[in-house]
Amino acid sequence: MRDHIKDNLLWSIGDGEHVRIWVDPWVPSIPGFKLIPPDIGNQHSNLVWVKDLFRPGTKEWNIELLNGIFSEFEIRAIKDVHIPVAPRGDKLLWIENRTGQFTTKSLYSLLHSSIPSSSDVSINTNVDSFPWKKLRSVKGVSPRIIIFIWRLLHNGLAIRANTRKFVSSIITECPFCDNAEETIDHILLHCPFSQAIWFASPLELRFEYHPPSLSNLIVGWLNDNDNLQIFRIGVSILWCIWKARNKIIFYSVHLEIHQILNATTNLHSDYFEPISEVMNQQNT
Ligand SMILES: [Zn+2]
Repeated sequence: MRDHIKDNLLWSIGDGEHVRIWVDPWVPSIPGFKLIPPDIGNQHSNLVWVKDLFRPGTKEWNIELLNGIFSEFEIRAIKDVHIPVAPRGDKLLWIENRTGQFTTKSLYSLLHSSIPSSSDVSINTNVDSFPWKKLRSVKGVSPRIIIFIWRLLHNGLAIRANTRKFVSSIITECPFCDNAEETIDHILLHCPFSQAIWFASPLELRFEYHPPSLSNLIVGWLNDNDNLQIFRIGVSILWCIWKARNKIIFYSVHLEIHQILNATTNLHSDYFEPISEVMNQQNT
């Protein structure tokens, strides 16, 4: 019960004097709202409270200091934290669940709906042993995608099989095939539509016989130090499938497989080497 309450608490920073940088939940755009403690040794042992990240005597972020400690996406997330101009203390808030589907009034039902679905189990099994630091340090991937992968592995995406725990009338069929419950595993790996994307992609992956769990798949890519481009391509495909799913749910727009693959390629032109070069490197 305690964990449920803890998951929904967020510190609203006022003067930053009572919120610990790496212990307390205070960064709204990071899943779990907490920063990952970096390997900084004793170099920054004087940094304990959020106010220690301000320029002395102000409530402005000390950007040089942040640059020396945090990754690009963490800095962006920290800069997004609203700091009030007027003096006030830090406040602990009870906030909505990350699905956005319920409010404080639903605390009772939240606490009584803790039985995980099958997709929760398969995704969360390896969360503790997942190489989070490595995920954070991979270069050449959009911070938005890293946050997406993080959410995905923490089961923090607003997938309808999850939201149904709180809203019983919600439709939970897969928007791609209308033929199975929409779980995260289904929509990203098991759905025939997604499988066609994976096979047509530069990775040419086939999942129909022994589909892996998402966390095993991503860990496998991350651990392939010789070719992190596979990871970069793989996560951008996951991201584009997810965006295509959202387009159907929110705008009733159905993308074709080639449009989704084009979107993946366009991501590469922003952040990565061209896919064709990657695959040539792989073949030599
Ligand atoms: Zn489907």
